[in-house]
Amino acid sequence: MRRKIVAGNWKMNLTFQQAKELALRLNTWVKTNKPVAEIIVAPTHLYLEQLNKDLANSHIIVASQNVSAMENGAYTGDVSAEQLLSIGTKMSIVGHSERRAYHHEQDKYIGKKITHLYEHGMSPILCVGEKLEDRDSGRHFDVVEEQITVALERQNVDDLKNLIVAYEPVWAIGTGKTASPDQAQEMHAFIRKTIGGQHGISVANSTSILYGGSVNAGNARDLFEQYDIDGALVGGASLKLDDFTTIISARK
Ligand code: PEP
Repeated sequence: MRRKIVAGNWKMNLTFQQAKELALRLNTWVKTNKPVAEIIVAPTHLYLEQLNKDLANSHIIVASQNVSAMENGAYTGDVSAEQLLSIGTKMSIVGHSERRAYHHEQDKYIGKKITHLYEHGMSPILCVGEKLEDRDSGRHFDVVEEQITVALERQNVDDLKNLIVAYEPVWAIGTGKTASPDQAQEMHAFIRKTIGGQHGISVANSTSILYGGSVNAGNARDLFEQYDIDGALVGGASLKLDDFTTIISARK
C-alpha cells in the first residue's frame, strides 16, 4: 500500500541537545495532533541511539542519513547496516544527491547499500533526481530512469514491497526553487511506471514516492494534491518545528 509519509532530513545540522529537543517537541505535537502522515526523522548517525530510545513507542520513525555499501570490516569511518540495526535503526536514506556529489556515490554502489539493508530486514529511502543541466537538455527522464533501474536491478521483488523513493531534483535542493506540482507529478508518474516495468505493477503500486526539494509550509499542500505524490522529504524546513508540522498537517 502507498503510505503517506513526511520525512525530515536533518543533514549535518543541530547539536545533540538541539536534536533531542526538536525530536521531543515533535513527538508531543504528534501525540496531540495525530497526523495522517507517517513521520520519519533522519538525524546524524551520532544521535541515532538516543533518539531511537527517546522515540521508542512513538509514531515517529528514526532513520539514518546513510549506510555503508560494505558489511562489517576494515572500512574506517563507515557504519554498516548491522551496526545501525544493533541500535534499533531500521531505515536509511540512500543515494542522496549530496552523497552523490561530494562522495561520488554511483547507482551500482547505492544498489549495494539497498541490498545490505534488505539483508538485515531494514528498508531504504532511495533518493533520485536530475541536475539542472539534465533538465535543461531534456535528459531528466533518462537520468532518473537510470538511477532507479540500476539501484534496484539486483533487488528481490519481495523486498521491494513498500519501497520508499524520494524524487529530489538537484536544482531544487536547498535553493528555494521548488519543482512545480505539474513537473513533480510528471516525474513521479514516470518513476512509478519505471518501477512497474522493472518489478511489476504490484511493486509500483505499493511504492511511496516522496517529493523533495525546497518543500516548505507554503508549497506542501499543492504538491500533495498531485496523484502520484505520496509525501515529502524535507531538508531545511524540517529543522523548524512549526514549518515541519505545517507540512505534516498538509498531508491529508
Ligand atoms: C534534502 O536535502 O533532502 C532536501 C529536500 O533539502 P531542502 O528541503 O532543504 O531543499
